[in-house]
Amino acid sequence: MTLKRDLVKYVRDISKSKYQKGSECFIFGSTENLDFHHFYGLTELLETWLRKNKISITSEEDILGLRERFIEEHLEEVYEQAVTICHEHHLQLHSIYGKRPQLVTAKKQQRWVQIQRDKHGMV
Ligand SMILES: [Zn+2]
Ligand SMILES: [Zn+2]
Repeated sequence: MTLKRDLVKYVRDISKSKYQKGSECFIFGSTENLDFHHFYGLTELLETWLRKNKISITSEEDILGLRERFIEEHLEEVYEQAVTICHEHHLQLHSIYGKRPQLVTAKKQQRWVQIQRDKHGMV
């Protein structure tokens, strides 16, 4: 691999503008320092997809040519299975599930977010 940037950044370049980022933290309603968290981490998703399809990326052209297809095949995970939370809650979530949460923990992360929300009375 001779690319200067992480592969996932090429995906984010085009997906980012379409995120339905909320205007407040889903857990506590704060309106500042909001982040967009993917329950299915894009890096994990992309690597799994490349592996599954036995695709090896060796140049920038490779990923530029494939990123649209990757997003097309993961619309649900990229755009729907995500939540807007404040930076603090985001850090908390990642401290529990790791910097790059495994895909299998997506449902658990969702439950965690819901439980925090209930705890804070945002019902
Ligand atoms: Zn996150
Ligand atoms: Zn929050």
